[in-house]
Amino acid sequence: MFYNVRATDSFKNSISVAIKGGKLSHAIILEGSDDEARFSAAMEIAAALMCEAENRPCGVCSHCVKCEKGIHPDLHIVEKEADSTMIKVDAVRRLKAKALLFPNESKKSVFIIRQANLMNPQAQNALLKIFEEPAAHLCFILTCPSKSAFLDTIISRATVYSLGEETIEESENGDNSASLAAELIMTLAGENEFVFLKKTAVFIKDKKLFSQTVSAMIPVVRDALVLQSGGRDMLISDTSAAKKLAGSFTQKKTAALLSCLQDFCDSLQLSPNHNLAITRLCSLLYQIKSN
Ligand SMILES: [Zn+2]
Repeated sequence: MFYNVRATDSFKNSISVAIKGGKLSHAIILEGSDDEARFSAAMEIAAALMCEAENRPCGVCSHCVKCEKGIHPDLHIVEKEADSTMIKVDAVRRLKAKALLFPNESKKSVFIIRQANLMNPQAQNALLKIFEEPAAHLCFILTCPSKSAFLDTIISRATVYSLGEETIEESENGDNSASLAAELIMTLAGENEFVFLKKTAVFIKDKKLFSQTVSAMIPVVRDALVLQSGGRDMLISDTSAAKKLAGSFTQKKTAALLSCLQDFCDSLQLSPNHNLAITRLCSLLYQIKSN
């Protein structure tokens, strides 16, 4: 999860664990210095709450796709209006009116308040009323640079997650990981396990490149799945690897591959043995291919 969100691993870990265990709070404060990163994390959490696949968010079901496009009827985004510097109490009142309704398509109604630090105290007080007695289908995600902008009564009813101040530095191999990912997918689609394993030798001395490359394989496989279901919205502009995979794997195998890579990425941070992890990836992928 959160492969494309700029945040620390510890943030990604703790939020993934909460999602998997169904333990996400009904009120979440996401704090961090970058508004875009906070917002993309919020959107991904929203998708995870709506998605009904085993590995949430799966990125390909109708809930996930609609969340990604910002058109899910149960996802509500509250932002300051263009001509204003504050999020005013009227915006919170409109939110409360929507919160009274049951969700349309999913089991949850998710409200993202972007730059929630711009809510004045009056708006925060209005919000507090639903925070106190939330209906089970509601979830609120507040993004802000720091929770210190909120009334204590808001903070005490929410779970605060910090995206972390560590900027994830651009790896010297940053561009390389995308092309390696494409190459590995091509190999998986067309060659045997031995050829694949040989190509992974480059990762033995570069743990970071390995995890970046595995992460970079995910959007390629996702694109292949979209191609197989007749879609056109590609994440990666060079579609050759996705096309090759889509032609060589059945849709079922491609879906299995996607969830395998997502699980693998999640488990990688906990993996104590780097070389074993490389071998494990290889055998997992070829198991799916030969099944
Ligand atoms: Zn999904």
